[in-house]
Amino acid sequence: MKIVSLFSGGLDSILAVKLIQSENLNVFGIFILTSFNSKELTSAKKAANYLKIPLKIIQTGDDYIDIIISPSHGYGKNMNPCIDCKIFMYKNARQYCKTIGGKFFITGEVLGERPMSQNKDVLLRMEKAAGCQRMVLRPLSAKLLPPTIAEDENIVDRTRLCNLSGRSRKPHIELANLLGLEIIPTPAGGCLLTDPGFSRRLKESIEHKETSSILMKLLSVGRHFRLPSSEKLIVSRTDEEMKELINYASKKYTLLKSINIVGLLIGNKDIELAAEIVGRYSRDKKVYYNNGSKEGWIETIDINKLLLSKYRL
Ligand code: SF4
Repeated sequence: MKIVSLFSGGLDSILAVKLIQSENLNVFGIFILTSFNSKELTSAKKAANYLKIPLKIIQTGDDYIDIIISPSHGYGKNMNPCIDCKIFMYKNARQYCKTIGGKFFITGEVLGERPMSQNKDVLLRMEKAAGCQRMVLRPLSAKLLPPTIAEDENIVDRTRLCNLSGRSRKPHIELANLLGLEIIPTPAGGCLLTDPGFSRRLKESIEHKETSSILMKLLSVGRHFRLPSSEKLIVSRTDEEMKELINYASKKYTLLKSINIVGLLIGNKDIELAAEIVGRYSRDKKVYYNNGSKEGWIETIDINKLLLSKYRL
């Protein structure tokens, strides 16, 4: 029997897999890759490797962005549309069950752990909306929830599952020790959509109709400025961000480069001002620009601090 697991690489999803593996069942992980969780992928791969499970990466596209722009169940505290996001993930897991011949899937969800999407009523409503009623087994809280296909068909022994609830991490650590887990990921990081600073940027971007998946990815890169023409400028803070901005350069955008700083102007109108801002952060005040149809050098002078803060997002 093949058991699909919605797998993030976080402690809860690792524990859920471990519990199911302890019943001698084969787990197949899936990681739903969005523009907001790419940094989690490395730890998910590492954890999957440790658990010896295959990890299928499902890349989302505009369908996921549509959810972020206008979630039918609204946002949480920040720009996190958890209910719609979960429904989306459940649908993907259901589809993957079909593909590999699984009957149900597991998640690391814990009752009451998150206010918006993890109370009993909401969990069951999300299953219904995703067309997978009784297909979602949550091993960490299974004893507090109605039995699923997995238990009814005796594929999984319900008595070996858990009754965790609430936000305390202590029982999770105890369970990890009990199961002999050698890696315990820290709770740091997580979904960018729950971060207040990131959410402010995202909201501003949506208001300016900058919703392509590339622009969504770039929301977590560099310093951001909104210029008078309404174009956005992104300025690198590190060498890694310099490389990223260069990678995303295209004919629609203007790339600005100085000795140690790169700027990416999402457009081609405010080139002079964009160069002034790039020069402000650079050791060298000469800035090169190129947008495919126009290129040149601009000798910049330090832009006034007040003006700079006016444009800063
Ligand atoms: S925290 Fe982020 S990834 Fe998790 S359900 Fe909410 S929006 Fe989706």
